[in-house]
Amino acid sequence: MSFFKKILSKIPFLKGNEKTESKEQVNLVESGILANISETDSIPSNSLNAVLERILIKKEELDDLEEELIRSDLGVDLAMDFTELLRKELKAQKEIYKDDLQDKLKEFLLGAFTEVKIHRNRAQLSPVSEKLDPFKFSCPENVLTVVMILGINGVGKTTSIAKLAYKYRNSENKKVLIAAGDTFRAAAEDQLRTWAERTGADLIEMPHGSKSSAVVYKAIEKAKNENYDLVLIDTAGRLHNKKNLMEELSKIQEVVKKNLDGQAYHLETMLVLDASMGQNSLIQAQTFNELCEVNSIILTKFDGSSKAGTVFSIAHKLKIPVKFLGVGEKMEDLEEFSPEAFTKKYF
Ligand code: GDP
Repeated sequence: MSFFKKILSKIPFLKGNEKTESKEQVNLVESGILANISETDSIPSNSLNAVLERILIKKEELDDLEEELIRSDLGVDLAMDFTELLRKELKAQKEIYKDDLQDKLKEFLLGAFTEVKIHRNRAQLSPVSEKLDPFKFSCPENVLTVVMILGINGVGKTTSIAKLAYKYRNSENKKVLIAAGDTFRAAAEDQLRTWAERTGADLIEMPHGSKSSAVVYKAIEKAKNENYDLVLIDTAGRLHNKKNLMEELSKIQEVVKKNLDGQAYHLETMLVLDASMGQNSLIQAQTFNELCEVNSIILTKFDGSSKAGTVFSIAHKLKIPVKFLGVGEKMEDLEEFSPEAFTKKYF
């Protein structure tokens, strides 16, 4: 059963309503063309009112719809805003048919992505980024692209760095440098070393416990001197010490900006979120966005069972675009995000 049918089937008023009459049929009844139908005809006259009731949604049913939407992974804000829109339509004497609900929700969700586009086009991340499509990651010629990879441990940060390195090194023939910025996580450094070898990217690492900003400084210097196209910076994901993390992230940004001053570059903060974490991802996005403005998202583990409705709530609430989907554990398992394809798949 599709996502939306499942939602509708849980609403008492609409339950068991798979075989509903079309709007045209209802209009025939309303217009009187079928008014004289007898009890022996295919549409029993005594059930006409019930048919009408089942097809038109009423104000009272919106609470049930809202509840079910909240229970799905779309989240509270989005569910409430959508049903509020429907309430306004009903207040304005507009009739809402069950058949139209799915399209209305789809349109509303796509609207969240449009909001992201409008918002992002206004924001000025750097002179170059103004010209970029907010849902597309691009690594333009003659511009050094620096991406800070953020996210809590375990969401798939290291693997995503490997996937990006692989994609841009192999499919786009870019010169890629990885900076092992989380010097307190020895396992991540080992993993990054292995991935760098496999993907053909280069790696900058420093002894355990070194300052992240020092690693980044070294990476930026190397990138400038040796004409790299893309620098991927691994960062710490320890959210329990927010103040330190905030300082560390802003220091990394400062180092990048200061050392690239006067040359064309694009600096992006990309947050990694795990699709299986549901609405918890919205909280993570909110928290990281407060620590260090997040420009884009990689959603990992989309090959699992989650439909990742949180992506819509993040777009709606925080106006942050998803740029990539992680669809497996291998370095090839990275897909570019498309708002339209994602929305289509969601239903
Ligand atoms: P980190 O702690 O954030 O660096 O996370 P890792 O990159 O080490 O990944 C944690 C686990 O998630 C590993 O077992 C990865 O193989 C797995 N993983 C990462 N991305 C994906 C994905 O897109 N799909 C699946 N199925 N597993 C993933």
